[in-house]
Amino acid sequence: MTTPSNAHISLLQSRLLDEQREIEKRLADNDHYGLSQSLRDDTGELTAIDNHPGDTATELYEREKDVALLEQEELHLSRIDAALDAIADGSYGICAACHEPIPLERLDAVPDTLYCIEHAPRQHLSLRRPVEELVLDPPFGRTSLDEQDSYNGFDGEDAWQIVEQWGNADSPAMSENRDVADYVNVGIDAYENDGFVEPIESFLATDITGRHVSVIRNREYRHYLDTGEGDHGLESDELEETT
Ligand SMILES: [Zn+2]
Repeated sequence: MTTPSNAHISLLQSRLLDEQREIEKRLADNDHYGLSQSLRDDTGELTAIDNHPGDTATELYEREKDVALLEQEELHLSRIDAALDAIADGSYGICAACHEPIPLERLDAVPDTLYCIEHAPRQHLSLRRPVEELVLDPPFGRTSLDEQDSYNGFDGEDAWQIVEQWGNADSPAMSENRDVADYVNVGIDAYENDGFVEPIESFLATDITGRHVSVIRNREYRHYLDTGEGDHGLESDELEETT
């Protein structure tokens, strides 16, 4: 692969300078998308307080769009600056990551790049986060703490599982569980033990004296016997018919 000739580089340099001038002129013409003015000046109103919330929302939307456009232009300018610096110090046309020559076709298409196509950083990923995030707690959905080994208390996921027993909008095909054939078992961990660790704990019970053992014939109990785990001798116990 060849590096660009000096004539080619000066052509690309003049394209970069043209683009730079164009963006700077555009930003000067629209006064940085009017973002230096307060919203009040934008609307010509003394205050937005007595406006319909819909009007205020429209204004807010426009401001957000302007912020995004300005950010995009600033990013473009900083890329052009970096490319011009690279031309000045002779490193232009060489990928900053792998130090291989960047194909001429790529330089013609994206003259402000410092990287070959494999090493081009992800674009349009803004690192600016709303400052509110510093003081906000994670929302309910992020309180699933199962991933933490030390945690086995009631968390957001458990709360969702309880609500989900009454159904959700998913079809069996969308379930997280494999081989779900009906709508009953589409929920997250539909078979997960709830309130006990071993199945036997859910159906063996004693009275207050701890002597009279009884069996509660619940789903776990039936499953226990169906899978051949249990001894039907349990059936001869003094049973309390509870399901
Ligand atoms: Zn590279």
